[in-house]
Amino acid sequence: MVVLMMEVWDEATYVRHHKKKIALIFSAMRHFAETLRSDGWTVDYIELDAKGNTQSFSGEVERAARRHGATFVRVVEGAEYRVRQEQESWAERTGLPVEILEDDRFICTIPAFLTWARGRRELRMEYFYRDMRRKTGLLMTDSGMPVGGQWNFDHDNRRTPPRGLNYPAPERFAPDAITTEVLKLVAARFGQHFGDLEPFALPVTREQALRALKQFITAALPDFGRYEDAMVAGQDYLYHSSLSLLINLGLLDPLEVCQAAVEAYEKGDAPINSVQGFVRQIIGWREYMRGMYWRDMPAFATRKALAATRPLPDFYWTGDTDMRCLAESVGQTKREAYAHHIQRLMVLGNFALIAGVDPQALSDWFLVVYFDAYEWVELPNVVGMSQFADDGAIASKPYAASGAYIDRMSDYCGECRFDVKKKTGPDACPFNALYWDFLARHEKRFVGNPRMRNMYATWNRFSGSKKAEYRESAADFLASLKPSTNGWAREAD
Ligand code: FAD
Ligand code: SF4
Repeated sequence: MVVLMMEVWDEATYVRHHKKKIALIFSAMRHFAETLRSDGWTVDYIELDAKGNTQSFSGEVERAARRHGATFVRVVEGAEYRVRQEQESWAERTGLPVEILEDDRFICTIPAFLTWARGRRELRMEYFYRDMRRKTGLLMTDSGMPVGGQWNFDHDNRRTPPRGLNYPAPERFAPDAITTEVLKLVAARFGQHFGDLEPFALPVTREQALRALKQFITAALPDFGRYEDAMVAGQDYLYHSSLSLLINLGLLDPLEVCQAAVEAYEKGDAPINSVQGFVRQIIGWREYMRGMYWRDMPAFATRKALAATRPLPDFYWTGDTDMRCLAESVGQTKREAYAHHIQRLMVLGNFALIAGVDPQALSDWFLVVYFDAYEWVELPNVVGMSQFADDGAIASKPYAASGAYIDRMSDYCGECRFDVKKKTGPDACPFNALYWDFLARHEKRFVGNPRMRNMYATWNRFSGSKKAEYRESAADFLASLKPSTNGWAREAD
């Protein structure tokens, strides 16, 4: 049996991924090939610059089948729709039987998710999550009740961080010879892509992944819940795990990660609100998003329920904006290929939502810039959760917020050139007028949504002239935005 692994240009450039993300994936692959070899496997590893590399999955499978005189092909199901479609053609292309195996980077299989979803009127994550708790037994008592007597402890979470907190930095790993070689390759071949390649200190092996997990569980998990929604300038990770890159790559198993967190709770090393909140992200949100992706592809990729068409503003690539929350979030994204959930949802996503940015242009940006971004998880998070472009299949209301939310959850506003308390005019926080403008633009669609009743009640108490002032202020600001035209995301841009 031969294990075929390949670095191909088509995958590295179908969007022009962040340099750090390409280096991470190639380095992790090369290290994994070494591990397989030392475990006795025969590995045929095609490097990007290898002679004859056709630079596509299908081309390499065909070539390898011939080279090795294969009698069958066995492959794990592609995590993305595009790759899965390609796999479907391999039997014909190679003339061989092709066996497609389930992907064990997930706890819930695609058929099991589709069975859960079938016939339900509303596919809310919360119900799926409770089923996953029952199925896995995580944080469940012997009598089938949630540990602690509740399914969630959100009221204990989401605090504003006090000044001067000491945040634990995630464990860093110096590049070894393999990674150094990959960094040279990426600098030479992908130098024009977005983002900083170095310093590079991400985990790339199973052993490093386990160290990163251990460090998170001991140093950050206890406060994960409390400060889950906080944002602090210059603190890229806060109490977040940054384990998404390792779970999505397959270097950590989602269940082992959750079990490690539950064990910390059982030993009294981490409180229930943090552990429950963390487990919910993985067996709840991560599995649910993947299921929703497969349920709705390929249509998901072109959803545009709010008919938003504005080009992506240029500052998403350059960070060149006076809005400090956005400049900070883009800056760390460029440096680290990472931003945490609330920066993604309530700063970068929220701005695009209320400014009416085209969800597909935004989705391309998210797919390029994060080290954990693959279409199966990026698309439902961006097009669904953050942009409401799926017409509420995922979120029961749009994640739209004014500057007041960002001010409450971060320390960004204090040193911003805009005034978060001002509602309109050139010095006012742009999120304020954009927020009301968004509600006004979509009043017909959302006025009947019970979760938005209060906001519309407030809007409709405003006088006609006040409403006009908000809308003019938003229009003036939107007219000042410079669109992105530089082809950062796709070569054909
Ligand atoms: P933690 O806060 O430590 O959470 C623990 C784990 O829970 C994560 O590692 C991840 O595996 C899982 N998780 C949490 N929330 C989600 C979610 N909504 N969907 C799926 N898994 C989740 N996640 C990606 O893995 N890839 C993406 O491309 C991606 N794009 C996103 C785009 C937007 C607009 C939004 C709002 C969210 C996106 N997410 C994505 C989800 C989430 O923001 C990241 O998983 C998380 O920020 C990763 O950092 P972490 O490992 O420190 O997470
Ligand atoms: Fe962002 Fe507005 Fe706060 Fe500035 S004032 S950091 S633009 S929310």
